[in-house]
Amino acid sequence: MAAPLTDQEKRKQISIRGIVGVENVAELKKGFNRHLHFTLVKDRNVATPRDYYFALAHTVRDHLVGRWIRTQQFYYETDPKRVYYLSLEFYMGRTLQNTMINLGLQNACDEAIYQLGLDMEDLEEMEEDAGLGNGGLGRLAACFLDSMATLGLAAYGYGIRYEYGIFNQKIKNGWQVEEADDWLRHGNPWEKARPEYMLPVHFYGRVEESKEGTQWVDTQVVLAMPYDTPIPGYMNNTVNTMRLWSARAPNDFNLMDFNVGDYIQAVLDRNLAENISRVLYPNDNFFEGKELRLKQEYFVVAATLQDIIRRFKNSKKGSTGPVSFDSFPEKVAIQLNDTHPAMAIPELMRVFVDIEKLDWDTAWAITKRTFAYTNHTVLPEALERWPVGLLETLLPRHLQIIYRINQGHLDEISALFPEDMDRIRRMSLIEEDGGKRVNMAHLCIVGSHAVNGVAEIHSNIIKTDVTGEVPEQDQCSALNIGKMVPFWMQPQEWRKDKWIKILCLPLQAAPGYHMAKMIIKLITAVGEVVNKDPVVGRKLKVIYLENYRVSLAEKVIPATDLSEQISTAGTEASGTGNMKFMLNGALTIGTMDGANVEMAEEAGEENMFIFGMRVEDVAAMDVEGYDAITYYEKIPELKQAIDQINSGFFSPKQPELFKDVTNMLFNHDRFKVFADFEDYIKSQEKVSQLYQNPREWTKMVIKNIAASGKFSSDRTITDYATEVWGVEPTDLKIPPPNEPREALDETARALREK
Ligand SMILES: *Cc1c(COP(=O)(O)O)cnc(C)c1O
Repeated sequence: MAAPLTDQEKRKQISIRGIVGVENVAELKKGFNRHLHFTLVKDRNVATPRDYYFALAHTVRDHLVGRWIRTQQFYYETDPKRVYYLSLEFYMGRTLQNTMINLGLQNACDEAIYQLGLDMEDLEEMEEDAGLGNGGLGRLAACFLDSMATLGLAAYGYGIRYEYGIFNQKIKNGWQVEEADDWLRHGNPWEKARPEYMLPVHFYGRVEESKEGTQWVDTQVVLAMPYDTPIPGYMNNTVNTMRLWSARAPNDFNLMDFNVGDYIQAVLDRNLAENISRVLYPNDNFFEGKELRLKQEYFVVAATLQDIIRRFKNSKKGSTGPVSFDSFPEKVAIQLNDTHPAMAIPELMRVFVDIEKLDWDTAWAITKRTFAYTNHTVLPEALERWPVGLLETLLPRHLQIIYRINQGHLDEISALFPEDMDRIRRMSLIEEDGGKRVNMAHLCIVGSHAVNGVAEIHSNIIKTDVTGEVPEQDQCSALNIGKMVPFWMQPQEWRKDKWIKILCLPLQAAPGYHMAKMIIKLITAVGEVVNKDPVVGRKLKVIYLENYRVSLAEKVIPATDLSEQISTAGTEASGTGNMKFMLNGALTIGTMDGANVEMAEEAGEENMFIFGMRVEDVAAMDVEGYDAITYYEKIPELKQAIDQINSGFFSPKQPELFKDVTNMLFNHDRFKVFADFEDYIKSQEKVSQLYQNPREWTKMVIKNIAASGKFSSDRTITDYATEVWGVEPTDLKIPPPNEPREALDETARALREK
């Protein structure tokens, strides 16, 4: 037992990691032992490392609860404008360490765990990642929740509680094999089920006109059960909510009429309804168009909007007198994370017009002022285009509403550009060529008051590529396209100085995506040859990082010296890894694409290794034509590399194995990678030169870190708050639970007077 500290000594220990008071440590140890006994029903003789993790998680969670309740009370009392972040993905990773840091409990917990004779890192490693995302889009949503709480915004994340998150990637014999991510197997200490707030979601059915107006009838109902996860801000006692919906079959499911008499089968069929929240689609930047995915998208949207409208109606100010929706956009901002939750637009229109009996034009004006949309990609294969036939079956009333929105939209275009049939075809919400489809990006653009990309260059590109607008006529101004970027870092060393250079290659292939799987196999095959080479293998190792995920990124990014961000200009919307590496002390070799452009702007181009074509060069090449073979013949290093792959040098037992890859590179490479190759190897030569000089390398690293402030998600969210949502970040601290209730009213008063 450590000696008690004097008050002065205690004050000295106040640091960014939090106060280590003896009371604090003793209290945490007591909580830990209590949870081990009462929650986990174990003693120290039989407890496993996982039991210890859960005991600590519950102990830390206890410190969230009072703040969580207080924050929600505070929002009820002050009734600020609420911000709703709708996303099909929240890639949260682990929660324990982040919670300890944000509550200022890290030091005290470290000490308590040490005194208990346990190892904090071992415990932390027991936590499963919440892998409810594919990559950048989902991780952005997670960073944004953190920043919204840190900036004191009354914000909510809404999504799906997938029972299975992104698959676990195994590499077997060099090939990717997917395993189910059963992340809830041991229970999730961070969530609280709220069965009492379950809501119905309707599917299928038909539309009926009567004197009461339009009604969607004969539907099938699935219930949405909310699970709430606390989102603590950094040291401000704010705890916001991420609410994820889980699908439940109603108790009378399939017993109503047609299945009478087959009780067992009816119970078994409950799975059909509950499959909606079973699994995350492992598609990054790819639209698959499956009915189950459309069900997921509407499921989250329908449940969430009921919640938002209930909260609006219950709000202190709205609760007196009859409900008016005129003030809805002053009280509610809804951000759409890509088009995945786009059905929120016709759904809000349906609620306003069919249920709340607003007239169409009023409803449309309110809807438009409520929504804002973030576009995440310009790659055509990623854009959501749902077949009209599928919508007609699954959501017939929404299809009608989309047609009516489109009618108003096309009328406006015709008025502005009479007779411009080509423009009308380009900008319509309904695409006609090759089977009718609804272009969800167009739906989001017409249904929102603000549209943004995820980097400056990307915001500029979507003004033409995604909207179908013609830039010269400058009709884009109405779209209010902005730029936004994200963050995240861990403490690190500035130069990692390894004796052997290690090439780490995080990459994941959607199951069934042939080319990506072949590329993974190629990487591991190259590794086999390089790593075993008696000369090169001593200097260089090619290591494929299996199962890249948030908890692995947290380790590997701070350990990196050189970050390669080498997308062909104009193809990567932003990238987020690029900024994480910069802020964690890596230098960047990259093209002028995505956020690399702004990184160069902030740090100076001379402090990065920029190479390759610019967007204009790529556009010019699209006109002239790209001929891969000329580069192959001109660049000896490229010829050697391709010849080695083709000769079976990396796959001696199957010399033909990588034919599809090299064929693609020669004949249908949309990314024209050979065109950047020569400049890339020249740039790598400069990297090697600088790496020989540790002092100069470290200087450049420090300049990069110092210039990376812009890429904090706190900065990004401050911009969204003021430019898009019309809310004000605050550094007011909500009084912690141990302070009296009056302190809360005092803070509320201070906020009102600001
Ligand atoms: C940041 C991050 C991504 C996205 O990386 P990009 O370089 O932006 O594609 C994907 N997965 C994980 C685990 C991440 O942390």
